[in-house]
Amino acid sequence: MTVVDDRAPAAEPAESPDADTLVGELEALLHTNLAGCLDAAERAARESAEREDRLAEMVAHHYVATARRLRGDDAGALAACDRTASIAAELENPVWQARSLECRGLVHHAVDDDEQAIDLLREAVELCRRAGDDAATAEALTVLGRTYAAYPPFAARAAGALAEARRLSATARDPDGAAAAQVALAMTYVTTSKQIARTNARGAVAAARRALAAARLAVEEADAAGLSGLAVDARLAVATSLAAIGDDAALGTTLDSLAAMLGRFPSPTQQLALHHLRATWLSRRGLLAEASAEAEHGLAVAVPSERLADRVELLEILAVTLEAAGDLGAALDVWHRHRDLSAERLESLAERRSTLLAARLDADEALATADRERRRARELEERNAKLTWEAGHDALTRLANRRSLEATVAAHCVSQGPLSVCLIDVDHFKRVNDECSHATGDRVLERLGSTLAAVVRSGDLAARYGGEEFALVLPGADRQTAAAVAERVRARVEALTWPVAVPDGRVTVSVGTATADGPTSFEDLFTAADAAMYRAKRGGRNRVESA
Ligand code: GH3
Ligand code: MG
Ligand code: MG
Repeated sequence: MTVVDDRAPAAEPAESPDADTLVGELEALLHTNLAGCLDAAERAARESAEREDRLAEMVAHHYVATARRLRGDDAGALAACDRTASIAAELENPVWQARSLECRGLVHHAVDDDEQAIDLLREAVELCRRAGDDAATAEALTVLGRTYAAYPPFAARAAGALAEARRLSATARDPDGAAAAQVALAMTYVTTSKQIARTNARGAVAAARRALAAARLAVEEADAAGLSGLAVDARLAVATSLAAIGDDAALGTTLDSLAAMLGRFPSPTQQLALHHLRATWLSRRGLLAEASAEAEHGLAVAVPSERLADRVELLEILAVTLEAAGDLGAALDVWHRHRDLSAERLESLAERRSTLLAARLDADEALATADRERRRARELEERNAKLTWEAGHDALTRLANRRSLEATVAAHCVSQGPLSVCLIDVDHFKRVNDECSHATGDRVLERLGSTLAAVVRSGDLAARYGGEEFALVLPGADRQTAAAVAERVRARVEALTWPVAVPDGRVTVSVGTATADGPTSFEDLFTAADAAMYRAKRGGRNRVESA
């Protein structure tokens, strides 16, 4: 498994020898020493977080998740999966996002929540496909195929997924991936063979022969790839097929070579499978005392509580063996243990499923609450913004209101530079109201508001002074500039054409300007502007006067 993917985005470090080394170490520990793997992964997660190596931290969390999953710590595994996924999202690394989905899927699979498991695993496959990473897609398809294979009706789907995994591994020049898919394919045929054994003995043997051919190819491929763990799995598939076919001689040889390999590469899971096969084989050959001893060895290996399913199967082998040996009292005892353990296993699965469901519901609820709070905060913000706007603006013209006008002028009054204002009064506005309507008057004020807003430049302010009077604040504008702006306003208003009937078909304004060259006050400026505006009225209206 390679961490650095050359199609990964540039944001990711070009290479991280730490993360690659970590994958190698943790992967090896995972199969030989689960508790040691968990310790090492937890330590690596802490240390890489301290050195801010996000890639290594993500890898470490993935192995924490996997080790916890294999120990049956579902909630702990899912929490670690979340961390892997969130760092993978941050690093924009879809392959590791997919691996975290695979781990989640397998947590659900372990408690028989397979609908959820298959959904998650298919999502992982899609993520890798979209990322265009053939090796990772093959890896995800192999996990999906193995999960399908646990359900006999899904055997064809399993074979399809695994065949595709092999094709993609070949394209990606990944013999390890191809061998892993081949082992899984062999095990799929074995499952089918076992499933139909009771109803269709000949079909079962045919399936077992197919499994054997597939498993032998898997052995060749795994040996060529030099993967000891996979080579053992491949031989376990060969042994299982031989047991189904009933070829006890060949089975004996395979079991011996398996025992030798496991002596060199110990793995508790594979050791357990070997005990299982040996016990069945010995029992079939009538070596009942040896078969019982083998089953007892297996039970000792399977002691941790997460191995309940294996223990149930071994107890069955033991009970059958004892019955065959004629030791009915001992057999009955074992059948009782078998019954109790089966019940315990079902209860434990139900409990684990309900814990997972509860965790999911809690997470959904937390999301919903966070969502509600975000929405409420946004509404509050919008309402505040609206209130703030309303406090400073005039509803009819949408210009700044008198309050904003006073505040703006006050802010500029203290400055040394020139400050000009224009006071704009509509000429004979009473006639608009009287001869047309008050509503027409409102429309006229509205239109004048937007005209003024369009005339002023940024940094200037257009405001409604009150009634039919408007004001402009022009910071930095001297007397001439103010007069020029006022004239532009007057001309622009005079040139407006009116879709509504207004007296004489036009509206005009009289404007008074006032300029201060140093610090001043609102009162002083507007008293002067007002006086100038009245001069404009007296001078015949539709004019500009400067104070
Ligand atoms: P002048 O040329 O001397 O300024 O004459 P005028 O008629 O414009 O002056 P006057 O002050 O007599 O009348 C202003 C009118 O503006 C009186 C008031 O009813 C009207 N007015 C003030 N605010 C509003 C408003 O919000 N809507 C409407 N439709 N009319 C308003
Ligand atoms: Mg007036
Ligand atoms: Mg007026």
